[in-house]
Amino acid sequence: QIAVRDQLTGLLNRRGFSEQGAQAYATARRANRHMSVIMTDIDRFKFINDEHGHAAGDDALCHFARILSAGRRAEDILARVGGEEFALVLPGTDLESATKIADDLRDLVDSSPIRVEGHSMPMTASFGVATISKKDTCLTDIVVRADRALYRSKRAGRNRVDLESSQIMRAPDGTFKPIEAGSGIPNSRADRAGRRATGSAALSRSAARSRCACRYSTTAIRFRCNPWPPRPSGIQTDYRARRPC
Ligand code: GH3
Ligand code: MG
Ligand code: MG
Repeated sequence: QIAVRDQLTGLLNRRGFSEQGAQAYATARRANRHMSVIMTDIDRFKFINDEHGHAAGDDALCHFARILSAGRRAEDILARVGGEEFALVLPGTDLESATKIADDLRDLVDSSPIRVEGHSMPMTASFGVATISKKDTCLTDIVVRADRALYRSKRAGRNRVDLESSQIMRAPDGTFKPIEAGSGIPNSRADRAGRRATGSAALSRSAARSRCACRYSTTAIRFRCNPWPPRPSGIQTDYRARRPC
């Protein structure tokens, strides 16, 4: 049990995520079912640690884990995959619904300050969403796209949700629209989003040819298709002795 669980939050760790995620991916593929992935990372978490100490940082991690866990269905897979980075696999959920779930979670985190030394302190997180596509060869392919969307949220200012898809985009008014080749509206935000997604589709295509999209992201080092490579757990090991939530 311990080998697949994060001791601080009690959630699955990266290894548990890899194992359960691979099974869920195989099931979704077999049943030709939707599946989406949300990647999320606490914003400016280092500041909490540096200003208030690691115990406060640990409390913030548990607080975040509780928000992400609340309301999850039994088949959802939630894991702590890095220091303050979490992944959520949503079987049977399409991109639009997953993006709404991420929007709600972002809102919930934003409106639930943590308690530090008797004071409340705001905390936010950024989110990236992606969904299964025909060209995917493993869960990692979806995770890599969600991770790319997450880092776009970070670059765009944090406390945001971004999505990555070659088929669908979110228009500035929040509605979801199919992407049609060559249908961009010049100089509009929607067009920029469309082109970005088209660009990512090109990346996914060439990734499919090379078996794994991992090489296009730093995530490559952290997530791989089967078999799971045992690796030293780095940062997480440093905190393993800390008290659980
Ligand atoms: P960003 O908004 O770009 O995500 O910035 P950040 O500060 O959240 O990210 P950064 O990667 O700079 O810092 C993450 C910090 O998380 C560094 C590390 O010391 C801390 N950390 C990792 N694991 C744990 C843990 O289990 N407990 C505590 N308290 N801190 C942890
Ligand atoms: Mg962070
Ligand atoms: Mg991080």
